[in-house]
Amino acid sequence: MTAKGAKDVLIPVASEFDIIRKYFTRPAPTAVLGVGDDCALLQPRLGMTLAVSTDMLLAGRHFFPDAEPGKLGHKALAVNLSDLAAMGADPRWATLAIALPEADEKWIAAFAQGFFRLAARFEVELIGGDTTRGPLAISVTVIGEVPADLALRRDGALAGDDIWVSGATGEAALALAYLQRRVTLEPRAKAIAECADPALAADCLLAGGDDYELVFTAPPSKRAEIEAVGGDLGLSLTRIGAAVPGKPVATLRDAQGKIISASRKGFDHFA
Ligand code: ADP
Ligand code: MG
Repeated sequence: MTAKGAKDVLIPVASEFDIIRKYFTRPAPTAVLGVGDDCALLQPRLGMTLAVSTDMLLAGRHFFPDAEPGKLGHKALAVNLSDLAAMGADPRWATLAIALPEADEKWIAAFAQGFFRLAARFEVELIGGDTTRGPLAISVTVIGEVPADLALRRDGALAGDDIWVSGATGEAALALAYLQRRVTLEPRAKAIAECADPALAADCLLAGGDDYELVFTAPPSKRAEIEAVGGDLGLSLTRIGAAVPGKPVATLRDAQGKIISASRKGFDHFA
């Protein structure tokens, strides 16, 4: 029975193909073929090698399930762009695999906006992906270009090189500890320096993760050049140590030169 005047309201539910067409299909002018076929087709520029990296983000593991979708869209691409930056590669294209619990168009639109805003900034074209229903999960693969002999590989460090780090590390991990109520924080700006739990602060700084800063090595003859680059970018670049001959182990020392044993060596999902 229907009350007089009331209409049956049909709420349209977007299909998988509607979602792909409306939210994830954008022009990809530098790809030979973008979204729409079984594969995308890519042609690297002359003399360039492709650099490829994938990261996966799972709700409840890499982000809070109620995280703002726009920020999540940004982060899903940003974590991958940082891998290309680490190897000195220029970002060109990306694919996006996403599992969504439901076709919540408001959520998807905000996610896509965050993703494409960052993609536009770095001139990355979305050229394919996969869309499925399931527990919220996002995996982005980025494809960049770098001349093969200029790729900054981890095995490129030489004994005698300085070790540098960009920006500041630890704040993302400390913010997570704060959200999990493992620590209380008062002045936001100096969170690491003034943290009431110095052991936790040191752990976040040395091994927290989620910072997206770069660690790199360079011969001491490049110090002035590197500092100038930091000045140009408005980015602090800090010399934190040196590569020495011998086994590839990291020895950490405090400001007084005393050896400190880090409780962990970076984030391990199975530790
Ligand atoms: P398949 O049946 O091979 O899985 P789909 O029907 O899932 O192909 O995808 C159709 C097209 O849409 C493909 O070109 C695929 O790359 C693209 N696509 C699917 N999901 C996404 C997404 N989330 N982002 C970008 N492209 C996508
Ligand atoms: Mg598919």
